[in-house]
Amino acid sequence: MNATILCVGTELLFGQIVNTNAAWLSQKLQILGINVLYHYTVGDNPGRMRETLIRALRETDLVITSGGLGPTQDDLTKEIIAEVMDDELVLDERALAEIETVFSRAGRRMTDNNRKQAYLPKSGTTIYNDVGTAPAFALEKDGKIVIALPGPPRELQHLFETQVLPMLAARSGSVIRYRMLRFYGVGESDLETRLEPLIDGQTDPTIATYAKEGECTVRIASKRPTPEEAETALDETENRIKEIVGKYLYSDQDQDLAEVVLNELIAKGLTISSAESCTGGLFADSLISYAGASTVFNRGFITYTNASKEEMLGVPAETLDRFGAVSEETAVAMAQGTLKCAGTDIAVSVTGIAGPDGGSAEKPVGLAWIAVVTASGELRTKKHYFRDRGRNWNRKTFVLEMLHQVYCMLETISC
Ligand code: ATP
Ligand code: MG
Repeated sequence: MNATILCVGTELLFGQIVNTNAAWLSQKLQILGINVLYHYTVGDNPGRMRETLIRALRETDLVITSGGLGPTQDDLTKEIIAEVMDDELVLDERALAEIETVFSRAGRRMTDNNRKQAYLPKSGTTIYNDVGTAPAFALEKDGKIVIALPGPPRELQHLFETQVLPMLAARSGSVIRYRMLRFYGVGESDLETRLEPLIDGQTDPTIATYAKEGECTVRIASKRPTPEEAETALDETENRIKEIVGKYLYSDQDQDLAEVVLNELIAKGLTISSAESCTGGLFADSLISYAGASTVFNRGFITYTNASKEEMLGVPAETLDRFGAVSEETAVAMAQGTLKCAGTDIAVSVTGIAGPDGGSAEKPVGLAWIAVVTASGELRTKKHYFRDRGRNWNRKTFVLEMLHQVYCMLETISC
């Protein structure tokens, strides 16, 4: 099936809000095996909305609209769809009752405009909205389907996942299963080249690679008559991918490296502490973003200046003088000082040059030294250098490298 995504809202055309709904819907439809051929965006203008909808229905079988289902005058999506599909809007009693409930619970007075939201296409299927007021709907005619969803992303996503997805999946007579494999330490083009024998001539499962800041994701998707068959096909493909690039894989459940590291620490009952210079607490933040961090994360030092490295972590002044703040020796002294203060099983440190200033030929912007030490006396160091891509991008990649060094230590793999 081919589809168009039609987003309605003048604020989208003004650039006041970014059209995240189109991207989100496209990703979901692709996974369902539905080809998205067009994205259209129109303002709250009845003439252009009508014209665009007519064109979209001529070009594709499925049109998903976003926005313009609200109570205000400029919300015209429903009216135009009913007109173009030769239908009429009638009162949906259940929708009205639900809107009334939302208002009475909030202690707010309902206006006639809100009542307008309960008028829906007569031959359509209402998609009741349990997270907002505007009900959505699907309307089918002469083999063409229009699905109208509200603009707020939280509502659109919820209604799509819970009601639209089953509706579309039921039509296709097959199920789609997908898996996100996350990699660190390998670039996207390198990954794609290595997987080329698998990617070439792929039909099912399909394999697609994506790059994120310093990381790569591979999505494998399979469309089969039953979930079991799809899962088996994914297992086979995942195993073949692992044979080729398994050493870079850290999650087959679309988890962040921080989440994986945290879960490993919890599973192994190990505690950790950190000392950060240029990342200013981002490492600590990345772990603490996930529930359960309090059982393993003891403390984090932000030792930005040389004086703070000496005072808080006992880094010898001589080490700083002789090797510089960004050096393997300083990183090791920071990690050891942290381990001593915190008494944790593991301590990790970072010292680097985030830029834009402070770089030299010998120590360029984008360089960081990372050290991991353990209470049992293990020590790992890593000179990390990625091409400079700006201060905050650099800082994020330093944190990923810290997480990866801890991950490798936990998994006892060399990296
Ligand atoms: P409401 O009942 O909130 O008016 P609606 O269906 O009429 O819902 P709009 O008025 O078009 O939706 O948009 C409401 C809000 O939803 C916008 O202000 C914006 O924050 C968000 N939104 C709308 N369209 C998009 C989009 N395509 N991408 C991201 N956000 C969007
Ligand atoms: Mg609106």
